[in-house]
Amino acid sequence: MAKPPGDKLADYQKKRDFARTPEPTGGQASPDAPIFVVQKHDASRLHYDFRLEIGGTLASWAVPKGPSLDTSQKRLAVHVEDHPLDYADFEGTIPADEYGGGTVMLWDRGTVRFLGDQPPEAMLEGGFLEFVLSGQKLKGRFKLIQTKMGGQAKNWLLVKGGDEHANKGDVLVEQPDSVKTGRSLEQIAAEAQET
Ligand code: MN
Repeated sequence: MAKPPGDKLADYQKKRDFARTPEPTGGQASPDAPIFVVQKHDASRLHYDFRLEIGGTLASWAVPKGPSLDTSQKRLAVHVEDHPLDYADFEGTIPADEYGGGTVMLWDRGTVRFLGDQPPEAMLEGGFLEFVLSGQKLKGRFKLIQTKMGGQAKNWLLVKGGDEHANKGDVLVEQPDSVKTGRSLEQIAAEAQET
């Protein structure tokens, strides 16, 4: 499959010094089904990065309180720069003095099926996305809704839709570790320091 247009990743690449950070530079071809990932990121403040494959890159939101399977929880999701598709496999430690410095865990991954009668690019542009996740932890319907709270176009809400996968538990507490390696954030950070 074709690589995404280079300018979609311009912000991502501009913010990073790839000689210094182990993060991917971008450019991997797309698999057949669109993917999603959630990365737990212990940066200056712990947050969860929610990423959906749309148009050849990973559309990305930083979710300070993380995703929830409870339909009553509306989680602030701050729209950030697109990330390259190969970021979906990234787990490791970004040097402290680099952009996004801190430990990154691959907390969940899987495929996404977009709902609605428009392509996801148009839904993203329109500020409303509805989709079904098939992850190891996150499953079923979700919505991302642009609210422009505080006059900020980047402010969206991530909300679980009602279905058999919804529940009142706290998936962040019940399943805290990596889907890639089974490690905790502390283990990932400690192993980075050993090398
Ligand atoms: Mn982040």
